[in-house]
Formats: sequence, structure tokens, C-alpha cells
Amino acid sequence: MVAGSSWPVSTQSICVNLPEEKKVASANSVQISGTTTDLPWKNFSSLHHCVRIYTWVRRFLSNARKCVSDRELSKTLHLSEIEQTHSLFISLAQQESFPEIFSQLKSKESVSQPRRFASLNLFLDETKTVRVGGRLQQSNLPYSSQHPILLHGKSNFTRLLVNQRHKDCHHAGPGTLIAILSTDFYIISLRRLIKSISYQCVTCRRSYSKTLHQLMGHLPSDRVDNSSPFPFQRVGLDFAGPFLIRQGHTRRPVKVKSYICLFVCLRTRAIHLELCLDLTTETFLAALSRFTDRRGLPSSIHSDNGKNLVGAARELTECYALLQSNNFKQAISHLATIQRIEWHFSPA
Ligand SMILES: [Zn+2]
Repeated sequence: MVAGSSWPVSTQSICVNLPEEKKVASANSVQISGTTTDLPWKNFSSLHHCVRIYTWVRRFLSNARKCVSDRELSKTLHLSEIEQTHSLFISLAQQESFPEIFSQLKSKESVSQPRRFASLNLFLDETKTVRVGGRLQQSNLPYSSQHPILLHGKSNFTRLLVNQRHKDCHHAGPGTLIAILSTDFYIISLRRLIKSISYQCVTCRRSYSKTLHQLMGHLPSDRVDNSSPFPFQRVGLDFAGPFLIRQGHTRRPVKVKSYICLFVCLRTRAIHLELCLDLTTETFLAALSRFTDRRGLPSSIHSDNGKNLVGAARELTECYALLQSNNFKQAISHLATIQRIEWHFSPA
């Protein structure tokens, strides 16, 4: 036992007047009203994301007004809830873009609308959405196609909507996207908006960007030679085919192979076609003869290294040697011009 006087004395002072401890409760409130002052999609880049978040908020607000037994407590959103939020967004976007028209339609005033919208026969449906009247009431089209929803291309909501459809349709081009959107919406300045979205889309910019081209060399002299006013002075030569043609005028004509000999003027790009029934040298020489009879003698011919063409060149060379002899010079002088043709073969 220790005497009370020898007990240890505490050095800590005890505060008698303790401060009052207050619990601060914080509460966040979200308001979705019919006014356009705080548009819900302003801070979102995805319409799906924005619609889902505000659908959860709307469910929370709806549950807060109900007793516990009537509350919706499922962990997933219903399609009807999402559609209601979507309709609300469309209505807010229309109030933002067309405040006068919306107020006129809401109050059912008969004030004359702007000339641009006079022919659209606008009306307000039961969800307070401005729709285009049109003349398709008797058709079997869906209601959204008969009366598309009016939107303006400058609205941020419209940009989010078109951007979402652009991604959903695998980055479709302007024509396809306009056709898809026109089934449900009547959007003013839609093409301009789609071009703007495609321009800012990284995927589209990467896909449709122009590739780098190297600087082309100078054109060959045969392509730019302007010394003669007539075409087919310098000619390129090639074959096309085979094609099947009917031979004879009988009831069952025989189909035979044929080829087309193409003479291309290197300067004017004019073409001359000659029919060849085979790819022999004789047939080509006949085609060349018909060409020269019709178009005149070319000063040069450019061709590839086709066997028949090489053979033709050889024959022309032999013909040239033959024509160089005095015996034949006078007899076939009209062919002497042909062998003076300068013949160029492309490298094989
Ligand atoms: Zn894109």
C-alpha cells in the first residue's frame, strides 16, 4: 500500500470547458429544369455518357420524392428512362437554338414564323419536341421519319449527337451520315457540321490524309513536242485483250479471239484502235499499215518488248535494208517512209 501523499501527480492539464463538436453534413444538389441556362451536356464529350449520368440523376430525384416502397431500386437503367432523358435533352436543345419558335408553338400563337421555317409546318408533339410537319402522314414510314425532329447544326447537343452517330457508323462520310441522320432529324447546316466533325476526328484524319508524293521528273521531249499541229506524230503502242468476237453472219457465228492494237498520241493523248485477230507480226504490220493510212506516218513509236512487236521491228529493219537497195527503192517507195519511223522499245 502507498500513501495518498506519495501518489504520482499528472502533469497534463484537464480542460474543463470542452469545445462543442459539430458534425458538418454536406449535400450536393442537381437541378434539371426547363430553362436553358445550365445545359447538361456542356461539360461532356460523349452523348451516351451524358445521357446515362443524367438518367441516374433523374431517377435519384424521382426516388427522393417517393416513399420507400415505390422507389425504383434496380441496378440498371431502363430503356424508357434513357429515352425520356434523350427527349428532354432534345427539347432543351431546341429551346436553346429556336427560343422564339418554341415559345410560339408552346403558346399556340399564330405569329408568322421566319421564312426559312414557314414551309416546314412545324409543330410541338406531346413530349414538347419541335417536329417538321411534312406531307408523309399517309406513308408507312415510322413516325420519326414522317416528322423528323428539328435541330440546329450550331448547337452543342447536335454536335454531340452527330459525333456519336459518326462513331457508331464506323466513321461514315458526309453522304452516308446525312442519309442516316435524315431518317430521324431535320438538322440545319448538317453538312457543314459533319465536315467539321470529320476534320477534328483523329481516325478520319489518319485514314483520309494525303500521302506524300515525290517530285516528278521532267516530261520526255516526245510528250511535249509541239512542232507539228497534227496528232499521232509521236505514238505509244500497246495491245489489249483478248476479246471474243463473232465471226461471220451465220445463225450461229463462231466466236474467235481477237485483240485491240492501241495507238496513243503521246502529245494529245488521242487514241486509235485497230482490231487484230491474232498476235502475229503479219497481223500487226497490217494494223500498223491501216493506222498510217488513216492518221499519217508517225515520226516515232514507243512500245514495250512484246514478241510480236520485236518481230515487227526486225521485219521493218529487214524491209529497210531491202528498200535501201536500188532495185526496190522505186517500186515500193511508198513503204520507205514506214521504215524511217524511229522505234523505241521500253526496257523489258
Ligand atoms: Zn471519324
